[in-house]
Amino acid sequence: MRIETDVKLDFKDVLIRPKRSTLNSRNAVNINRGFRFFHTGAEWKGFPLIAANMDVTGTLAMAKALGRHGAMTALHKHYPEAKLAEFFASEDGVHAFYSLGITAGDLEKLAAVRRRAPIKYLCLDVANGYSEKFLDTVKRVREQNPDAVIMAGNVVTGDMTEALVLAGADIVKIGIGPGSVCTTRRVTGVGYPQLSAIIECADAAHGLKGLVCADGGCTVPGDVAKAYGAGADFVMLGGMLAGHDECEGDIRYEERDGERVPVAMGFYGMSSEAAMNKYSGGVAKYRAAEGKAVETPYRGPVENTMGEIMGGVRSMMTYIGATQLKEVPKRTTFVMVTAQTNDVFGRA
Ligand code: 5GP
Repeated sequence: MRIETDVKLDFKDVLIRPKRSTLNSRNAVNINRGFRFFHTGAEWKGFPLIAANMDVTGTLAMAKALGRHGAMTALHKHYPEAKLAEFFASEDGVHAFYSLGITAGDLEKLAAVRRRAPIKYLCLDVANGYSEKFLDTVKRVREQNPDAVIMAGNVVTGDMTEALVLAGADIVKIGIGPGSVCTTRRVTGVGYPQLSAIIECADAAHGLKGLVCADGGCTVPGDVAKAYGAGADFVMLGGMLAGHDECEGDIRYEERDGERVPVAMGFYGMSSEAAMNKYSGGVAKYRAAEGKAVETPYRGPVENTMGEIMGGVRSMMTYIGATQLKEVPKRTTFVMVTAQTNDVFGRA
């Protein structure tokens, strides 16, 4: 047994210190980024935000809506082959990642869809990116799809980030335990504070010309700003994008003044009992659920929430004097705060 005594931080443990700047207006900043991916040489431009590949948020409608802002959606794994082929053949297909796990069935389905439609972006996704099987699958998918941009995860440490970049990932997905409907930290005791994970993994990936996607734990636009400040190239959101018209969740209605109005929508972790009942015939005897089901308030079109997120990021950039999103990590100084300060002043 060994104890690491360095302090590791979460979003709630820091605030971004304002800096002197010559910027006068939020309109003067550019929240888009351009990347050239390491393994493929392909270029991408847009607002580097990705809707999570969860049943509720990783939808075709979400891909269309976020695509209008140059943002991406990782589609959930449960669309039938024909529907995916049709979507990836359409003009909206360039705004989506095809998500897959590492079973033989996942790889066969990918090959079948790829025979029918071009897929530029792949998201290879497992809860625990530390297994040899995962690394081998990333290598295999890279060999079989030399022209695809591959995002792979999840991991939380620099060593494994480097291993994944070297195995063929252009983007490494970072986060074990921070998700809003994730119970991994409680059920298993395993995890890593997300802000520190992003800082350490971004450093490791960037040294090899790889990129990172910060996945999970953002609950307010300020957390998205902090993730970019920590060095995230992309930020993935589940809970913040749940509850919208573009989601595929069960809506709860209430009668108000004789009218039936939507008030809430279901949202659940992909390792929750709800998801396992839906797809795997229940929770297998040898494992415990590592996710939960919640209700989020119904929030209308995702356009409104995207406006708040993009507005928050723009405003952060004016506070620290960054004209380009790319400059944000260089201009970011985090100050540590007590959880109480942040609850009262930072996140209210
Ligand atoms: P959020 O933005 O809601 O905080 O986090 C979204 C992320 O939570 C997802 O992209 C995924 O990595 C993670 N996640 C989704 N469902 C589950 C689950 O059931 N268990 C765990 N451990 N993580 C989950």
